[in-house]
Amino acid sequence: MAENTNQSDPTRFDKPYNPREVEDRWYRYWIDRGYFAADENSTNPRRFSIVIPPPNITGSLHLGHALNNTLQDILVRWQRMLGLNTLWLPGTDHAGIATQNVVERQLMAEGTSREKLGRAEFIRRVWQWREQSGRTIIAQLKRLGASCDWKRERFTLDEGLSAAVRDVFVRLHQEGLIYRGERLINWCPRCGTALSDVEVEHEEIMGKLYYIKYPLADDPEAFLTVATTRPETMLGDTAVAVHPDDPRYSRLIGKAVLLPLTSRRIPIVGDPILVDREFGTGAVKITPGHDFNDEKAGQRHNLPWISLLTGRGEMNPVVLEEEAKADKDLVHEIAGAKVPIARDRVVSRLGAGGSLIKVEDHRHAIGKCYRCKTVIEPFLSPQWFVKVNDPLNSLAAPAIEAVRNGRIRLNPESWMNNYFGWMENIQDWCISRQIWWGHQIPAWYCRGTDIGQCRPECKTPIVAATAPERCPHCGSADLVQDPDVLDTWFSSALWPFSTLGWPQKTKALELFYPTSALVTSFDILFFWVARMIMMGLHFMKDVPFQDVYIHALVRDAEGQKMSKSKGNVIDPLEIMEKYGTDALRFTLASMASPGRDIKLSEERIEGNRNFANKIWNAARFLLMNCPNGAKAYLKTPLPDPATLLLADRWILSRLQKVVVSVNRQLEVYRFDEASRELYQFLWHEFCDWYLELIKPTLYGAEAAAAERTRTVAIRVFETVLRLLHPFMPFITEDLWQILHSPTDKSIVVAPYPIPSSRSLEDEALEGMMNDIISIATAVRTIRNEHNIPPSQQLKGGVITLKEENAKTILRNGEADIRRLAKLSEFTAGPSIAMPSGALEISTSAGKVFIIVDVDPFKEKARLEKRLAAKKAEFEREDKKWRDPEFQKNAPEEVKSKNDLRRNELSQEVFMISEQLRKIADLLKDRNL
Ligand SMILES: [Zn+2]
Ligand SMILES: [Zn+2]
Repeated sequence: MAENTNQSDPTRFDKPYNPREVEDRWYRYWIDRGYFAADENSTNPRRFSIVIPPPNITGSLHLGHALNNTLQDILVRWQRMLGLNTLWLPGTDHAGIATQNVVERQLMAEGTSREKLGRAEFIRRVWQWREQSGRTIIAQLKRLGASCDWKRERFTLDEGLSAAVRDVFVRLHQEGLIYRGERLINWCPRCGTALSDVEVEHEEIMGKLYYIKYPLADDPEAFLTVATTRPETMLGDTAVAVHPDDPRYSRLIGKAVLLPLTSRRIPIVGDPILVDREFGTGAVKITPGHDFNDEKAGQRHNLPWISLLTGRGEMNPVVLEEEAKADKDLVHEIAGAKVPIARDRVVSRLGAGGSLIKVEDHRHAIGKCYRCKTVIEPFLSPQWFVKVNDPLNSLAAPAIEAVRNGRIRLNPESWMNNYFGWMENIQDWCISRQIWWGHQIPAWYCRGTDIGQCRPECKTPIVAATAPERCPHCGSADLVQDPDVLDTWFSSALWPFSTLGWPQKTKALELFYPTSALVTSFDILFFWVARMIMMGLHFMKDVPFQDVYIHALVRDAEGQKMSKSKGNVIDPLEIMEKYGTDALRFTLASMASPGRDIKLSEERIEGNRNFANKIWNAARFLLMNCPNGAKAYLKTPLPDPATLLLADRWILSRLQKVVVSVNRQLEVYRFDEASRELYQFLWHEFCDWYLELIKPTLYGAEAAAAERTRTVAIRVFETVLRLLHPFMPFITEDLWQILHSPTDKSIVVAPYPIPSSRSLEDEALEGMMNDIISIATAVRTIRNEHNIPPSQQLKGGVITLKEENAKTILRNGEADIRRLAKLSEFTAGPSIAMPSGALEISTSAGKVFIIVDVDPFKEKARLEKRLAAKKAEFEREDKKWRDPEFQKNAPEEVKSKNDLRRNELSQEVFMISEQLRKIADLLKDRNL
């Protein structure tokens, strides 16, 4: 199908490279031929596997996905070409709360709600939505060129994965590692569900600190002053705490206070853990129903707890009247009110009753829901938990150990401290969510109405992988399943083995678990990576992956986070449309430096589109010089180096080094370094110099020499296409096909270049070529600086350090230097006197000079004009730079631009002044 399309259209090379023409076609070609499929029947013992971080079905491809999947694809394509049996397993995540929120918003727009639809209908709607738009992200990953084994695509809610989830739940429950308990948890009143610790985003705000009088029960004239940020929860206070060593208060421990607004009597306790003597007044209220630290203090002192709020975050009238025993007027005022309103009303009542002493501004942290940004409430409710720190059967300890002993390597290593810090303080994981979209918890409760009455032990939930028919205790068939679903990260924690068929003992598991690497961003290190490690070690008795590569965020050119409201979002799909997928991929890879956020600008991507064009033009040049096609040269062995041009031997030596280096950089996940080397080699060394250096031979009279050089040029180009393929899969396939035409193979499965056993490296030769190139470059630079046309023939030379160097340069490079630098004469030597009036530049080869016949007066006038302009611009930037107002008020990116420009201008002023000084010397020499 596709293999001959290129050759059949000879006009393609008349135009620049057109990504749109080729990308779709080659992707289909790869898919049709099954190149991305892992082979379960292979006897190849070398294997490489990766599971994709499953994108949410709510998702559309953004730059974070583009980066994440480009890096995975580079690794996978590289390993596949190295001959490994390679699996990249794709899939998507059902993303519980996120997806439920999206569909709820749609229902709201239709004037209905999930409650009105009912659970079954709502879930049907979410599935329907998933079928329609949940496929988008997969199509977009294909557009990016991702070489996943699509036949193995999984979804966290598909049948197999759901079975794995139920199995894990039942097993952990049997081991006592999953339990149901009533505890304070993080609650989102908007989403109406529990959240785990990592799902809470902490934010500093400027709030208030209220100082409230709590009168002593025995001596109503005396009082304790309590400082709190949450006066509305005081109705749930069950004690006041002071520090036992605080001389102000220690004598009061054991006595009681009367809670304002209720006159409920509560004890004064001594607690050195809860109380910070320096904070507020040194006396704090204990509200175990509304604060995590107070809950622990409450347990230490056996205090009761009062939960004042409903699940919607409103003051609960029943509790206010019964437990909190607030007066009727107050109950009337705040019953059903949301927290901020209740707070205002409580504060004004305290004020009216003379109990409020003062209010201060106070900076403190609050928690927000990571999905909807609503302020979370510590909320007492029955939930399911995973016990992570069981002393006899710990999930966390082996996960810490696996990273500590290097069975799992985090890259960059700097993340290890975060990992240990979090894992060593990990709390039990709250896994139940009060939403509908997700894996419903496999637990049933006996109601026993059909048998009249059930037994006390029927209170224990029945946990089972499939719905039980009868209660094992009383035989009742009246069972109801727990309505809650599991945290979405519970199913993704099993992803590396559930996707390979676990709990069945499949061939895929045997071959591809543990996976080789995981590529992920740092923001899901705890949500996901740490939990995969715990679950993998527990259920598979082996780590889920050996390497974790953690990449940074993609930001805009100024380093700002991209957001719709700022209008600085770069859409990867538009970019691929405009500049081609390869340009986007190469840009992201080249900027993926460890531990540093990517500051992406469209110019960078445009630059790499030009890189694609440069490669395209090189191919055009080479093919024009191979009238019989390129294929024959790929089959001939490399000619004996002794018969080759210096330029040929040089490019082979350089290629060898790049091959070694790119492989080495990829092994340590330095995508940036590997890209840089490829770019530098292909653009500058191969296109700019090598293709220029070989022109006389290609066009020369000696046919055999031209054929030898053609062989080298084609072979080097073909090798570098393979080397570049994982980064820029489309253009490399397109050109590789042309070189090999006709062929029915693909670069996807062509061997990746590895260091040759033949010794092609030649340090001395590289040094000499470096001299030749730097001399020619220096002449070009001087021409550029002095406005001398590139075509004007000049005389020039180089003053070398040693006679030996000059001889080598003259013997091997004179013709090339004269041709490339347009010099009619070229001299070299250590003792050449610098001709008067020569323009010069220092290089690694020596002082390069050219003799010019420019009118020194005209040149002086030109430079003086330029100097004046640059100086004026410098003054303007410098004035800003010195302005304290500007330094104080200007945005960071404006300041850094100013600083940069100011430095550039001062450099330019210096350079022009130097040139003027040289002209002044010249005029003096000539006595003008
Ligand atoms: Zn929420
Ligand atoms: Zn029962």
